[in-house]
Amino acid sequence: MIDTLQIKITENTNPRLATTEFTDIPFGKIFTDHMFTADFEDGEWKNFQILPYGPIQMSPAISALHYGQAIFEGLKAYRLPNGDISVFRADKNFERFNISATRIAMPTVPEEVFMQGMATLINIDRGWVPSQENYSLYLRPVMFATDTSLGVRASASYKFVILATPTGPYYTNALKVKIETKYTRANEGGVGFAKTAGNYARSLYPFAEAQKEGYDQLIWTDSATHQYVEESGAANVMFVLNGKLITAAVSETILNGVTRDTLITLAKDSGIAVEERKVTVAEIIKGAQDGSLTEAFAVGTAATVTQIGEIGFGDQLYQLSDPNSRKISIGLAKELNAIRNGLAEDRFGWNWII
Ligand SMILES: *Cc1c(COP(=O)(O)O)cnc(C)c1O
Repeated sequence: MIDTLQIKITENTNPRLATTEFTDIPFGKIFTDHMFTADFEDGEWKNFQILPYGPIQMSPAISALHYGQAIFEGLKAYRLPNGDISVFRADKNFERFNISATRIAMPTVPEEVFMQGMATLINIDRGWVPSQENYSLYLRPVMFATDTSLGVRASASYKFVILATPTGPYYTNALKVKIETKYTRANEGGVGFAKTAGNYARSLYPFAEAQKEGYDQLIWTDSATHQYVEESGAANVMFVLNGKLITAAVSETILNGVTRDTLITLAKDSGIAVEERKVTVAEIIKGAQDGSLTEAFAVGTAATVTQIGEIGFGDQLYQLSDPNSRKISIGLAKELNAIRNGLAEDRFGWNWII
């Protein structure tokens, strides 16, 4: 690990760790005692700091608020049985963060700022990494434009922050999802492959509309024809059709998920046939009708694998197989959890021990 960054540390004199209740912790609401911050000014990264977690004073004119130059990442740190802390595949999140940055005309973040900033934050807040089964410390790097100017152009100054929040088990019933054919999440030439704040903003209204119709989540389709399945909410979506694991190939409109990549690697390694290609709505519906679709699930860092129990398309609702009977997705999720929790050999070198 590169260890070159000078980080100024201001310890929190009013820590909340001892008084924080870790059981039944709501996702992303309770932050650790510290945060890492850095600034991009005059063409360079500077002011590397660990600060007590809390408000940052800013002008309401900062361009992130007006023109949406904001990106983020999400990854998790786990407590291993020997007490070590491991961050899962941080190199992939670092890489994707800079792909997102470049697409919306932001400077890239140097590796040592991302990695050493994160390691320093985790180290000072080590006590916040839960040791209970199915708990982890969720890390949220975010970068946003801070020029105080209403001129429409790429900002010249940015702030990079890493927040950390302990998370518990993500119990959720199998989802009832709607194949969305009016609204879209991404389009050709757009920013769908980047983890930008705006991608989330545009999805909120369609999501709320689907909830009004009784759905838990959406399956997005392509903006040109609505004939191809893209993602499910803010997660990638996978299917088992005729015994093969099928998912949309990574493209301009698909977020290149780390969980997606991890599950594909594990599936191939255990001899499961995997197809990364265009997935049609028609084949999914046909599979739901004739029973050749045996599994459907959403995959992402927050929940790992979330089963899909029912799929709505047009005015039809299709009931899928019993979520508890799904061998491939349940098996892959177990294997992934065992590796990142240090209970199985890290044979792909995914765990970064802090
Ligand atoms: C973050 C995200 C995912 C999941 O990516 P992971 O790296 O697995 O957490 C999938 N789709 C979208 C749109 C996302 O924003």
